Amino acid sequence: MLSALIAALLIIPPAITDFGSPRVDSIVNVIVIDPGHGGSDKGAVGPSGLLEKDVTLAVAFQLRDLILSDPHLKESGVKVVLTREDDRDVSLEERATIANGVAGDLLISIHTNSFTYSGVYGPETYFLSLKASDEHARKVAEVENSSFGNNGGSPVEDEDLKQILFDVKHKSHIEESMSLAKEIQGEFNNNLKLRDRGVKQAPFRVLKSVAMPAVLVEVDFISNPAREKLLQDENYQSLIARSLLGAVKRYKLLKENGLSGGAGSDGSS
Ligand SMILES: [Zn+2]
Repeated sequence: MLSALIAALLIIPPAITDFGSPRVDSIVNVIVIDPGHGGSDKGAVGPSGLLEKDVTLAVAFQLRDLILSDPHLKESGVKVVLTREDDRDVSLEERATIANGVAGDLLISIHTNSFTYSGVYGPETYFLSLKASDEHARKVAEVENSSFGNNGGSPVEDEDLKQILFDVKHKSHIEESMSLAKEIQGEFNNNLKLRDRGVKQAPFRVLKSVAMPAVLVEVDFISNPAREKLLQDENYQSLIARSLLGAVKRYKLLKENGLSGGAGSDGSS
């Protein structure tokens, strides 16, 4: 039964194997910003009580305002959709439904990281894979996947069928997601001047369900007292948002010039 299903999947022509709506254009028009957590789900809590859900919303608002006031993006008619605009519960599935419902061209999910050792700091940018790129990435995904009473499950599935379904659904977006993730991490490295914690991969539930290139950004470690202080500073939030804006603009340029997946190029065209 399983092997028959796998065989059937393998011979389906590519045009009808895309479970989301196929995108024939390369225009980046609708940008979905997902402020992590909210409502009863506080997310991670800093040593002096700063809540992840408040930081993610503040950064999301700043990013939205920057995108909407950017002359080039404004001129090209870019729209911004937030998966929540206030302090409310929104499940990971609802977030994906919102993003898919507006036919987003990219999704940025904003989070803050947390770790038992309070000295760790710096942003990390993730894109989706079935398996985590390392043990730390696996733990980060486990924490983020456990929002709103989800037990976190284990989206890491080894069965052939699951692997094939995953590949079929996400293949077209993985390279673009990686390209966007690299741009974001590059902007962070340039603007924040911190040690590069790098682009990582992990099986995030919120990314798994969206039919568009998508990344999850852990903007910094709220568990580090010094970073917690910075994370509640509007100017620092703005620096993070400006880094994300810069990355969105570079990614848009790359994609619209047919260079997606070529994040190794300098994007100066
Ligand atoms: Zn989070």
